[in-house]
Amino acid sequence: MRRKLVVGNWKMYGRLATNQALLQGVLEGVRELRDADYAVCVPYPYLSQAQSMLQGSNVAWGAQNLSPQEEGAFTGAVAPGMLTDFACSYVIIGHSERRGLFHESNEIASAKFAAAQKAGLKPIFCVGETLVERESGITEQVVATQLDAVLVRFGAQALKEAVIAYEPVWAIGTGKTASPDQAQAVHAFIRQRVAQHDAQVAQGLCILYGGSVKAGNAAELFGMPDIDGGLIGGASLVSDDFVAICRAAQK
Ligand code: PEP
Repeated sequence: MRRKLVVGNWKMYGRLATNQALLQGVLEGVRELRDADYAVCVPYPYLSQAQSMLQGSNVAWGAQNLSPQEEGAFTGAVAPGMLTDFACSYVIIGHSERRGLFHESNEIASAKFAAAQKAGLKPIFCVGETLVERESGITEQVVATQLDAVLVRFGAQALKEAVIAYEPVWAIGTGKTASPDQAQAVHAFIRQRVAQHDAQVAQGLCILYGGSVKAGNAAELFGMPDIDGGLIGGASLVSDDFVAICRAAQK
């Protein structure tokens, strides 16, 4: 039986004062919840704040990106070891905003995936199709290519210490959520594809759904057999909303 995981992706939002209130609300809201795992992926400058407020709690923390290089003359980049200095557990890799706005290819995403694992971070590797791709009937093809950038390159064993997030691009920040059946179909496809390489890894693989998850639709999505929790953007910025989604992940 896989444990559910709910991860907040704060994107480029937050300030010290508002983060303090948000994290306090999340901590209080999930303190008694024991049947699932929780995390927040915050902007780099707030990792220290997340670490000092969350350490010893049942909420882990992480970042939203990293450099594939360990160090060097890469102005503005952040190395994997810098994230482990702040005791990050997770790092989001290949988010569609990184792929789209910052032109990150599958090649770059897979290099980041490897660098994260080498440093002992758990990658949350994002895959998902655009609306045009869905309407052209190539969702599975797109997702398979993105997934294969790590599955074929590093083998199924690499997914033992990773999380996959299926995030249809058309559902991110748009208020349009994939229906539970639409999401389940892609999650099952991902699991089957991994199973072709290693059935045991596929069975244990945590596959999150992301794309306009809210308090009102989380329970139904999380009730689907291959949906193991959520990657939550907008709703993770409001503690009551995020806590309600965390509650929906409880058994
Ligand atoms: C995300 O940023 O990963 C995301 C799913 O955003 P939202 O929940 O706002 O659609």
